[in-house]
Amino acid sequence: MPELPLPDDLPRLYTIRTLLLTLLTTVTTAIEEAEDPRPRVAKVPRRWCITWRRAPVGHTRVGVLHVADCMLATGQPVDARTVQAERRREGRRIERCETCAPQLP
Ligand SMILES: [Zn+2]
Repeated sequence: MPELPLPDDLPRLYTIRTLLLTLLTTVTTAIEEAEDPRPRVAKVPRRWCITWRRAPVGHTRVGVLHVADCMLATGQPVDARTVQAERRREGRRIERCETCAPQLP
Protein backbone atom coordinates (compact mmCIF):
# COMPACT_ATOMS: atom_id res chain seq x y z
CA MET A 1 0.00 0.00 0.00
CA PRO A 2 1.45 3.42 -0.91
CA GLU A 3 2.29 5.70 1.98
CA LEU A 4 -0.25 8.48 2.53
CA PRO A 5 1.03 12.05 2.60
CA LEU A 6 -0.11 13.00 6.13
CA PRO A 7 0.35 16.38 7.83
CA ASP A 8 2.68 16.42 10.82
CA ASP A 9 0.58 18.61 13.13
CA LEU A 10 -1.89 17.18 15.65
CA PRO A 11 -4.97 19.28 14.80
CA ARG A 12 -5.01 18.14 11.18
CA LEU A 13 -4.18 14.56 12.14
CA TYR A 14 -7.12 14.56 14.60
CA THR A 15 -9.38 15.95 11.88
CA ILE A 16 -8.30 13.23 9.44
CA ARG A 17 -8.82 10.55 12.10
CA THR A 18 -12.32 11.88 12.84
CA LEU A 19 -13.18 11.87 9.14
CA LEU A 20 -11.92 8.30 8.71
CA LEU A 21 -13.83 7.07 11.78
CA THR A 22 -16.99 8.72 10.47
CA LEU A 23 -16.49 7.07 7.09
CA LEU A 24 -15.88 3.71 8.79
CA THR A 25 -19.12 4.00 10.74
CA THR A 26 -21.05 4.96 7.62
CA VAL A 27 -19.59 2.11 5.54
CA THR A 28 -20.12 -0.41 8.37
CA THR A 29 -23.78 0.61 8.61
CA ALA A 30 -24.18 0.33 4.84
CA ILE A 31 -22.63 -3.17 4.90
CA GLU A 32 -24.91 -4.27 7.75
CA GLU A 33 -27.96 -3.00 5.86
CA ALA A 34 -26.82 -4.72 2.65
CA GLU A 35 -26.18 -8.01 4.48
CA ASP A 36 -29.57 -7.90 6.20
CA PRO A 37 -32.01 -5.73 4.22
CA ARG A 38 -34.99 -6.57 6.45
CA PRO A 39 -36.64 -3.47 7.90
CA ARG A 40 -35.11 -2.51 11.21
CA VAL A 41 -37.15 -2.59 14.39
CA ALA A 42 -37.69 0.93 15.59
CA LYS A 43 -35.04 1.72 18.15
CA VAL A 44 -34.65 4.45 20.70
CA PRO A 45 -33.18 7.39 18.77
CA ARG A 46 -29.45 7.78 19.29
CA ARG A 47 -28.88 11.43 18.70
CA TRP A 48 -25.68 12.12 20.59
CA CYS A 49 -22.05 11.03 20.76
CA ILE A 50 -19.68 11.48 23.67
CA THR A 51 -16.02 11.88 22.82
CA TRP A 52 -13.98 11.18 25.94
CA ARG A 53 -10.74 13.00 26.59
CA ARG A 54 -7.86 11.13 28.14
CA ALA A 55 -7.34 11.77 31.82
CA PRO A 56 -4.85 10.39 34.31
CA VAL A 57 -6.22 7.86 36.77
CA GLY A 58 -7.97 9.64 39.64
CA HIS A 59 -8.76 12.78 37.63
CA THR A 60 -12.17 13.83 36.35
CA ARG A 61 -12.78 12.37 32.94
CA VAL A 62 -14.23 14.93 30.56
CA GLY A 63 -16.50 13.95 27.71
CA VAL A 64 -17.51 16.28 24.90
CA LEU A 65 -21.13 15.85 23.90
CA HIS A 66 -21.93 16.12 20.20
CA VAL A 67 -25.01 15.65 18.10
CA ALA A 68 -24.53 12.26 16.47
CA ASP A 69 -23.76 13.65 13.03
CA CYS A 70 -21.28 16.30 14.18
CA MET A 71 -18.09 16.08 12.14
CA LEU A 72 -16.06 16.09 15.37
CA ALA A 73 -17.98 13.24 17.00
CA THR A 74 -16.28 9.88 17.45
CA GLY A 75 -17.56 6.69 18.99
CA GLN A 76 -20.94 5.08 18.89
CA PRO A 77 -24.12 7.17 18.98
CA VAL A 78 -25.91 7.05 22.33
CA ASP A 79 -29.45 7.73 23.47
CA ALA A 80 -30.67 10.36 25.94
CA ARG A 81 -30.71 7.90 28.84
CA THR A 82 -27.02 7.09 28.36
CA VAL A 83 -26.09 10.78 28.24
CA GLN A 84 -28.09 11.48 31.39
CA ALA A 85 -26.45 8.55 33.19
CA GLU A 86 -22.97 9.78 32.21
CA ARG A 87 -23.80 13.29 33.44
CA ARG A 88 -24.70 11.91 36.87
CA ARG A 89 -21.71 9.58 37.10
CA GLU A 90 -19.11 10.53 39.67
CA GLY A 91 -15.66 11.33 38.32
CA ARG A 92 -17.03 12.39 34.94
CA ARG A 93 -18.04 15.69 33.44
CA ILE A 94 -19.85 16.32 30.18
CA GLU A 95 -19.19 19.50 28.20
CA ARG A 96 -21.07 20.60 25.10
CA CYS A 97 -19.26 20.70 21.77
CA GLU A 98 -18.77 24.29 20.67
CA THR A 99 -19.19 23.35 17.03
CA CYS A 100 -22.53 21.52 17.05
CA ALA A 101 -23.83 22.98 20.35
CA PRO A 102 -26.12 20.05 21.27
CA GLN A 103 -29.09 20.41 23.58
CA LEU A 104 -28.41 18.52 26.78
CA PRO A 105 -30.91 15.69 27.23
ZN1 LIG B 1 -19.89 18.51 17.95
